[in-house]
Amino acid sequence: MSNMTFTMIKPDATAKGHTGNILQHILDSGFKIKAMKWVHLTAQQAGLFYEVHKERPFYGELVSFMSSGPIVAAILEKDNAVSDFRAVIGATNPAQAAEGTIRKLYAASIGENAIHGSDSNENAKIESDFFFSAFERF
Ligand code: ATP
Ligand code: MG
Repeated sequence: MSNMTFTMIKPDATAKGHTGNILQHILDSGFKIKAMKWVHLTAQQAGLFYEVHKERPFYGELVSFMSSGPIVAAILEKDNAVSDFRAVIGATNPAQAAEGTIRKLYAASIGENAIHGSDSNENAKIESDFFFSAFERF
């Protein structure tokens, strides 16, 4: 899956009405949408998704935030999808994100940072499989 990545538009961004602008930004950056859904995760589902961060001090906050409202989950396709998408979203902390990145434009804080992007090809596959069956990918 070196040409695929996985993203979520997080609850802060959907609540503020940024969903459309963020999807347009993703398309304008050259990504194709292979799968997409609008879902509200339970705390249990968010906890499972972020299980790798279980030992981090912000885990509880992250799980409650990610289950606080609806998100858009999507699989995106482009050459070098994982690294190119990380460049499009910007640094985890929006205060350190480069100008023009999605987090710089739409995120308020390191915790509520508007969007997720996979950090490796391996995790892109794991995360995509968490949300989507083969019948939901086009
Ligand atoms: P993501 O995985 O969501 O794309 P990331 O890879 O930039 O973000 P990670 O280190 O994987 O950052 O952290 C996952 C998420 O946990 C962050 O996006 C953010 O929402 C939250 N997070 C990370 N660090 C902190 C922190 N110090 N305080 C609060 N929340 C944090
Ligand atoms: Mg991450």
